[in-house]
Amino acid sequence: MSENIKFLDSDVPDFSEDQAARLLRELYGIEGDCARLYSERDQNFRVRAADGDGYVLKIANSDEDPAVLDLQHQALAHVETRDPELPVPRVIRTRDGALSATVDDSGGKGHIVRLLSYMPGIDLASVALTPKVLRDLGATIARLGKALRSFFHPAGDHVLLWDLKRLPEMRHNCDAIEDAGQRRKIEAVIDHFVQADLPRLGDLRWQIIHNDANGSNVLVAEDDHERIAGIIDYGDMIHAPLIFDVAIAAAGLAHHAEDPVSAICHIAAGFDCVTPLEADEVDLIYDLVIARAASEILICTWRIANPTGPTDDLVDFVAASWPVFETLLAVGRDTVRARLRSALKFPPYCPAPGEVDRAEADAVLDDMLMRRRDVLGRKLYLFYDRPLHILRGEGVWLYDATGRAYLDAYNNVPHVGHSHPHVLRAISRQYAALCTSTRYVYGAIIDYAERLAATMPGGPRVCVFVNSGSEATDIAWRMAKIHSGNRGAIIIEKAYHGGTDAIDDFSPVDRPADQLAAHIRAIVTPDTYRGEFRGDDAAMRYAADADRAIAELDAAGHGVGAVMIDSSFVNHGIIDAPEGYLTAVVNKVRAAGGVFIADEVQSGFGRMGSHMWGCQVHGVEAEILALGKPIGNGLALGAIITTPEILASFTEKTGYFSTFGGNPVACAAGSAVLDIIEDEQLLANAVETGEYLRRALRDLAQRQPLIGDVRGAGMIAGVELVRDRATQEPAKAETKRVINAMKEKGVLVGREGYLGNVLKIRPPMVFSPANADFLIAALDEAITAI
Ligand code: PMP
Repeated sequence: MSENIKFLDSDVPDFSEDQAARLLRELYGIEGDCARLYSERDQNFRVRAADGDGYVLKIANSDEDPAVLDLQHQALAHVETRDPELPVPRVIRTRDGALSATVDDSGGKGHIVRLLSYMPGIDLASVALTPKVLRDLGATIARLGKALRSFFHPAGDHVLLWDLKRLPEMRHNCDAIEDAGQRRKIEAVIDHFVQADLPRLGDLRWQIIHNDANGSNVLVAEDDHERIAGIIDYGDMIHAPLIFDVAIAAAGLAHHAEDPVSAICHIAAGFDCVTPLEADEVDLIYDLVIARAASEILICTWRIANPTGPTDDLVDFVAASWPVFETLLAVGRDTVRARLRSALKFPPYCPAPGEVDRAEADAVLDDMLMRRRDVLGRKLYLFYDRPLHILRGEGVWLYDATGRAYLDAYNNVPHVGHSHPHVLRAISRQYAALCTSTRYVYGAIIDYAERLAATMPGGPRVCVFVNSGSEATDIAWRMAKIHSGNRGAIIIEKAYHGGTDAIDDFSPVDRPADQLAAHIRAIVTPDTYRGEFRGDDAAMRYAADADRAIAELDAAGHGVGAVMIDSSFVNHGIIDAPEGYLTAVVNKVRAAGGVFIADEVQSGFGRMGSHMWGCQVHGVEAEILALGKPIGNGLALGAIITTPEILASFTEKTGYFSTFGGNPVACAAGSAVLDIIEDEQLLANAVETGEYLRRALRDLAQRQPLIGDVRGAGMIAGVELVRDRATQEPAKAETKRVINAMKEKGVLVGREGYLGNVLKIRPPMVFSPANADFLIAALDEAITAI
């Protein structure tokens, strides 16, 4: 037998029912009948008082540590103050006002006596375990935990057999299990618990917990078997991880439930509604349930082998426990964890490297690809020859289904880094308080609009909120049309500005040049690497094409409502437009009565480094800015910043309203993104790291002739790959291979340009010089390898 923990209690008190009634009278001044109740180590009497009230008189084992008993009744008294509605027993004070008293038995041994109010109800173990009652159980345990949060007692750390943390100390008692196969199963669970779970417990939330909410310690109402009416028996309270209460309740009920896994999920979900669980806690539930089941079987089997009295109940209990234990073992950790995560709306578990092998992950991916194709269609494009199944993102890193880390040098939507905690908190806290529409007054949208408007110098600005970049460019165009009174627009050839019906006309990226909409004119791309004009006068020569477009639109009777340009020219292969080009084009359009719509979906929020907005990098202020992608760090949000006059023209004619646009959660996300851009000085980082990256790329180009040109501004770089620098033959197939090879080396980049031969490097703005070094090494190896 273990030295520290006792497997048996020898000295159970033996007071008669009459003696109990006398104690009741003397200590509490209550007249009543006392009837014995079962207890493992104390003596309990059900009291029916003469005045009709019910109580439980508890006479403790003389071995019981008074400090531990004090912990229990202090805890109950504390719970009463914190959550008076919680269905837990009240501690009745003695005539002297004490929470307990000490009485001697016939042998002169002292026993601590307490009186608790009686909780009417039916054992949960004896009723049908519906999802509703299991959820109510979870919620009630959570409330109890919440009420105990502020409770402290020095005896919380006392030594207790039923303390799951002490499971390792029981391992040598496994000899009591005769069947070698069964013994090994219990030993294996204990060994896993010691190696994998115990070390993780220290990171969880700890407090004093009930520690024994099993089916006979939980009562349901007599008139409603789906409502928890009492949690009794505080004899096992200890200081332990909060999640133990969920696991112990689940283990205690598993053999009464038809589907033990569903029961575990319902209890956890009920708990989660009151006290949100943390991912680490959820991921441990299975191991804790099975460890508790193992300890129950072990303790009871040992007691059957070392009896001090009748063992029939123990035999029945062990017989009922084995099948559930075996079922849980057979179902396995991964399945139960996945079911729990799904029930609690946690995303799928992201394994640590080595936990899942590639073949297993590949099989899952193949299955998902098929299901995806069936419900999303065959054409929904995926990156890479072998697509990536990504489970988690953090900062500049993405993690796949084997736990492998990839450096994200592609995604601009997670502008301030994947899953930035500040954005996460902003979104969840705002959602917890309110998420509604602009039909009500709330501060989040006003504060955010003020901050966005203040990014534009030179006069007041106003905002309109939408839900995507496409919607932003669409509304921007409607505004321009209405304000200018003209119906024609100018874009750069092969542009992309979004997917609405109107903006599809502005996005002829995959269309032959002669198939433009009648009111659209495309002007030549100001490409000084590959284009017609490459000298000092390139800006003016390229801009001159706007004269042609304006003349054509005028001649066709459309006039010029707007020119729409992405200042970072991402979709054009991240070209470096010559200095003065944008100013010249915009001036021509303004002279013709149109406005400049800066499509800042790619170039905004400091992407180009020196300025908040891409158009400002070119020295131009726009009448209308269309914002998207990075604006909410992944949350669907778009915005338009414009002048009060343009907004007035627009709203006069349209009465525009967007249900989701500018909702408080979206504004909270947007506002948090602005905080981080300022606090983490991301514009300065874009300038410094971006320059560092481009320098390193140019150095690499000295060694790798495939690199024809290196371009970009701030945290965006384009690397044009050519088969021959003199002929500039585009290395389209090689570009694809380089991108796939880089992925294999753990770096994600994309492909751009209508020739398909430009590497797009557009990482989250928190990208560091060390990340750039990692990328350069992977690119170098990839080019060498292909
Ligand atoms: N404008 C530009 C320049 C874009 O690159 C995109 C998206 N690629 C859009 C607009 C449309 O944004 P969304 O996909 O959010 O509708």
